[in-house]
Amino acid sequence: MPASELWQGVSEHLRAQLGIQEYETWIAPLGLRREGSQAVILAPNRFFIDWIREHYLSHIALALHRVTGQQMDVSFEVTDGGFDESSVMAAVETLESTPPTLLNPLYTFANFVVGTCNELAHAACQAVSQQPGKHYNPLFLFGGAGLGKTHLVTAVGNYILLHHKNKRVHYCTSEAFTNELIQAVRFDGMNRFQEKYRQMDCLIMEDVQFLAGRERTQEEFFHTFNTLYETGRQIIITSDKAPRDISGLEQRLCTRFESGLLCDLQPPDEETKVAILQRKSREKGLELSRQVAFFLARQPETNVRVLEGYLTRILAVSRFQGVEVTLDLARRVVGPLVGERRVGVEEVLKAVSSRYGLKVSDLKSGRKTRDVTHPRQVAMYLARRLTRSSFPEIGRALGGKDHSTVVKGVKKIEEMLGKEPNLAEDVRDLERELLGGGYMPGAGLRTGGM
Ligand code: ADP
Ligand code: MG
Repeated sequence: MPASELWQGVSEHLRAQLGIQEYETWIAPLGLRREGSQAVILAPNRFFIDWIREHYLSHIALALHRVTGQQMDVSFEVTDGGFDESSVMAAVETLESTPPTLLNPLYTFANFVVGTCNELAHAACQAVSQQPGKHYNPLFLFGGAGLGKTHLVTAVGNYILLHHKNKRVHYCTSEAFTNELIQAVRFDGMNRFQEKYRQMDCLIMEDVQFLAGRERTQEEFFHTFNTLYETGRQIIITSDKAPRDISGLEQRLCTRFESGLLCDLQPPDEETKVAILQRKSREKGLELSRQVAFFLARQPETNVRVLEGYLTRILAVSRFQGVEVTLDLARRVVGPLVGERRVGVEEVLKAVSSRYGLKVSDLKSGRKTRDVTHPRQVAMYLARRLTRSSFPEIGRALGGKDHSTVVKGVKKIEEMLGKEPNLAEDVRDLERELLGGGYMPGAGLRTGGM
């Protein structure tokens, strides 16, 4: 079988398995060369290879086996695919901002760092894993974004699946539950829906705050909850707030939630942040020096997901540029990310539109004439440089533009800046205006093309 045909077959398998978004991000840029029983996967750069090896190697090996009917060895090679840093970062962010729909096998108790901020939640989750439905039912975890709720409840699910072989675990977000319910109502599938949920031995329902104000869904969830509860099945719920602080949550659900164990997660202290960062970087194949770990932990950020994002970027730059991870590098990468926190995308849109004599709604519109597209790209560039928003987030703020449109826009302005002094002047002015004078982000990540 020629390599192109083989790769096509493998791609189709992977697309079906991974879904279109992950496929487009990570698999579509790859190629394949065949050398006997050896499949050489061609990837745009080292970082890409690391990512694929870590996340998709087993998928690829399996797909190769399916297509050829034989076991093939997989190796990797870098091609000069013209794939640059900003595209890689866009890809990472797209993936980071996609919420999980299934239990993530990588979230376990073994790689959860326990500190005073989360020890009660951790202990409760462990107790629940040992004997689901026995203690603490329901278990309700709440706390701010990125404090480890998903990690912990996923660890419970993984543990139960591994150690209680006959037990059925269902993981969903309250949004997925709502959508499934709507489909069931629409297509006459209520019986199947109810049966499915009411058969579970353990139901993990995340981000229950999104049920606020959805009466029909709350009613259905109430009945599901009661059925499971009365038959001694485990219910685990997460939310960003305590039940009574969720306005729009029915009283009877609130009471049910409060009848079990409520555990809140607090922001990690510096020591815990250091331990988490060191563990995460070890997972990514790097021994982080204490100096760098402390530097990152001292940042005011408490969202662990954001801290991990710093780490990913530091690592990506170190690999691209072939340099060691030093304090200096960390400062260079994280400095601009942290300094920019004061600016939001909406502020950028306001400043840019007024400079170009437009309305914010023009930037958000679908208009494609140059008098709008150029300022829009300037807004993309500045939002990228000055705010913490990811490419997809910037796209959404601009009225639902695709993340690849934002990547292109940013790149366009970066190219133009070198050639057009007037534009460079405008952009500098806007930056100064947005940052309120003094502070200019250092020559960091973004100016290097990211
Ligand atoms: P939440 O659901 O509360 O928003 P997540 O569980 O998604 O937060 O955590 C965000 C990221 O931070 C995940 O990658 C998770 O593994 C990591 N994380 C958070 N707390 C810890 C911890 N105590 N130990 C290890 N990783 C953690
Ligand atoms: Mg979560």
